[in-house]
Amino acid sequence: MKLNKHYSELNESYLFSTIAHKVSAYQAAHPDRDIIRLGIGDVTLPLARSVVDAMHAAVEEQGHKETFHGYIPSEQGYEFLREAIRKYYASHGVALDLSEIFISDGAKSDLGNLLDLFDVDNTVLVPDPVYPVYVDDNVMAGRKILYMAANAQNNFLPMPDDSVHADLVYLCSPNNPTGAAYTVEQLKEWVRWAKANDALILFDAAYECFVTEPGLARSIYEVEGAKECAVEVCSFSKIAGFTGTRCGYTIVPQAILSDGQSLNKMWLRRQTTKFNGVAYVVQRGAEAVFSEEGMKEIQQNLDYYRANAAVIAAALDEAGVWYCGGKNSPYLWMRCPNGMGSWDFFDWLLETANVVGTPGEGFGPCGAGYFRLTAFGDAEKTREAAARIVAALKTL
Ligand code: PLP
Repeated sequence: MKLNKHYSELNESYLFSTIAHKVSAYQAAHPDRDIIRLGIGDVTLPLARSVVDAMHAAVEEQGHKETFHGYIPSEQGYEFLREAIRKYYASHGVALDLSEIFISDGAKSDLGNLLDLFDVDNTVLVPDPVYPVYVDDNVMAGRKILYMAANAQNNFLPMPDDSVHADLVYLCSPNNPTGAAYTVEQLKEWVRWAKANDALILFDAAYECFVTEPGLARSIYEVEGAKECAVEVCSFSKIAGFTGTRCGYTIVPQAILSDGQSLNKMWLRRQTTKFNGVAYVVQRGAEAVFSEEGMKEIQQNLDYYRANAAVIAAALDEAGVWYCGGKNSPYLWMRCPNGMGSWDFFDWLLETANVVGTPGEGFGPCGAGYFRLTAFGDAEKTREAAARIVAALKTL
């Protein structure tokens, strides 16, 4: 038996365990302090009523012989859910064919599983800082990784460099961790670069629901020609609080061909071989997200998080701190004051304001000196945290 040697090349992910350790040590030393956590990327509001009702009804169906559902007729997902997604994209001006939509148990699984389709001998281009999954998935497979710097000079939105060749590129917009979001115009450049390099864009749209400003892309397919060079991965986690319920989807256009092979056909073959679909009950819940009532309820939840983001943004404005994100994203990415390092600022904020965030360098070397705050928390606690952050920053 020989193990995959590439697992030993993975960086140990100490980020969230180090944070948890530091916070519990501080709490143990100061049991009277009320610590507010603005570090997590998980949602806090419950599932919308329509989703819960749809899932209850589906559970009941599963309890009767006449309405029971066994193996899913298509591993690709029930047509009712794929049709709802097709209509959602159409409402944003993107036409999809049902055969291009694949339902999964979440974006994270698809991001890893998609790599089954590509030879190890592909060079991968990844932004820095980045959602660490993109890097680790490729390290595990032993692929060569190139990094492109996202920094204040490019507003944390790296653009293609024609002198750099890669075969796969990851773009995440609105971005985790920086909250920055590409315009359709900027993505046109990426599509042009991908075509010139015979490369594929893996576009992570997990936070598309937070886009409100005109001109920003919700989908890579808003760019003409993107269907020939981009796969899009999306999730019900952030739009509808499915982080614990688990459902997502991936769009693999029919137009993506390489050496006469259809990527869509390969993905279908992969999924039908290695995956038996998402639970009927969960797919019914996901379908309800797109119902008229479901959409209304979900918008209320998104507005709740947006209001939190605005509260944090106002606090940073008042303190005169540079940041990006927070407008079309639940994440705010702030520059640590006085040239402090990310971890120094983490310790200082925990001690001075009893507020927890995420040190930027946990997402890559270019995150050094930056700090991520999230709007996914409780509204009252977020207001309290924002007031404490301003008060603390003013003491510097
Ligand atoms: N993509 C990005 C950029 C994320 O930040 C996350 C989760 O935080 C995911 C994907 C994972 O989504 P899912 O819960 O659908 O696996």
